[in-house]
Amino acid sequence: MSLTETSTGLAPIPVTRLDQADPILLEQLLEVVGAVARKGAFTMGSELEAFESEFAAYCGSEHAVGVSSGTEAISLALRALEIGPGDEVIVPTNSFIATAEAVSWVGATPKLVDVDPDSHLLTAEAVAAAIGPRTRAIIPVHLMGSTVDLDAILDLAGEAGLRVIEDTAQAHGAYHRGRRVGSLGDVGCFSFYPTKNLGGWGDGGGIVTNDEELAARVKLLRSHGESPRYHHRIVGTTARLDALQAALLRVKLRHLDDRNADRRRLGAALRAGLAGTSVELPSPAFEGGDHVYHLFIVRSKQRDALRAHLEQHGVSSAVHYPFPIHRTEAYGPLPEGSLPVAERLAEEICTLPLFPTMSEDDVARVVAAVASFDSEE
Ligand SMILES: *Cc1c(COP(=O)(O)O)cnc(C)c1O
Repeated sequence: MSLTETSTGLAPIPVTRLDQADPILLEQLLEVVGAVARKGAFTMGSELEAFESEFAAYCGSEHAVGVSSGTEAISLALRALEIGPGDEVIVPTNSFIATAEAVSWVGATPKLVDVDPDSHLLTAEAVAAAIGPRTRAIIPVHLMGSTVDLDAILDLAGEAGLRVIEDTAQAHGAYHRGRRVGSLGDVGCFSFYPTKNLGGWGDGGGIVTNDEELAARVKLLRSHGESPRYHHRIVGTTARLDALQAALLRVKLRHLDDRNADRRRLGAALRAGLAGTSVELPSPAFEGGDHVYHLFIVRSKQRDALRAHLEQHGVSSAVHYPFPIHRTEAYGPLPEGSLPVAERLAEEICTLPLFPTMSEDDVARVVAAVASFDSEE
C-alpha cells in the first residue's frame, strides 16, 4: 500500500502541516518576503529590531534578541552567563537532543535527569536530587507545549544560586500562572524552526530576558562581538536571525494566540475522543499551567503495532523521541535502566497529528483509527 493509498481512500493526515496549508496567511507571508527582497536588507536592520521589540512585548519580557536557531539561543545564553568548562547544567533526558548539545557546545556538562511519568516533564524533586557542587544552571523544557511547574524549581535555584534557562522551543505563548513561559527564568530560549508553534521558513531562534546586560551580551555574541561596526569587543560568532525570517515571524506572531487557541481546542477534542481507548494520555496541565500542543503525544504498550495500524488507516504518526538523550550514541549511551521513566516513555510514546488547520473530520478520523486498533486486538 503506498502512502497516498490507504484503506480509507483519503489522503493520509500528516503529523503536522506548514504554511502552504493556509492560503490567506501564505499571501501575507509572500508579500513581506517581496518587501524585504526589494529593500535588499537581509541581515540586522529594522525588521529584526521590530520583531525583537514585538516578541519581547508578547512574552512580557523587557528584551528579546533574535539568533540563528533554538540551539544557538541556549548556547549563547549559557555563554552570556559565563557557564562553560567545569560547570554542570541540569537537563531533562526526555527532550530534543539540542537542549543537552547546547550545554556541551559551550564546554559545560549536561547533568541528565529523569522526568515525571505522568507529565513527562522535569520536576523540582529531580532537580533537588541532581544539584551538586559544580551545578550552575537548570534548563526546564516545556516539552510538547506543556508547561513545567516552575515555582518550586525557581525557589530551589534561588536558594542554591543557580540560573534558570527555560527551553521554550515547543511552547511559544503558553501561560504559567498568568505569565508567558520564557519570561519566568533568567532567560527563555526559543526556536523558530518551521514546525514550531511560531516558525519561520528556515532556521531561527531567540532569547527573552529582563536582564539588560545579558541581552546586550547575546547581541554581541551573535555578531562577532561587534558594536559599533568593526569594533570587536568580545569573541563572538555568526548567529544572527535573518531579516527575512524576522519579517515572516512578525506576521505569524500576530496569529500566534489564535493558532495556539486552535491547538488547545484540537488537543481537548482529541483527549475527549481518545478517553475510552487503550492509549494513555499525559496528565493535563497543572492548575495555572497550560498546554499549547506543539505535539500531541499518547502512550501505548503496543506502540509499533498501533503505528502500523494508523498508517494503514491514513493517519501519520511519529515518535518524539525514540531515544532519551542519555541513550543516544552522542551521550554515551549511558546503561539501560539509568533513567528508567524516560526509557519506558521512549518505548511507548506516539505522536498523533495535531496542527492548527486540522479539521473536526481529521480529529474524528484519528480517533476512529485508534478505536479500530483496539477492536481488532
Ligand atoms: C527544536 C528544539 C530545540 C532546538 O531548536 P533548533 O532551532 O532546531 O536549533 C531545542 N529544544 C527543544 C525542546 C526543541 O524542540
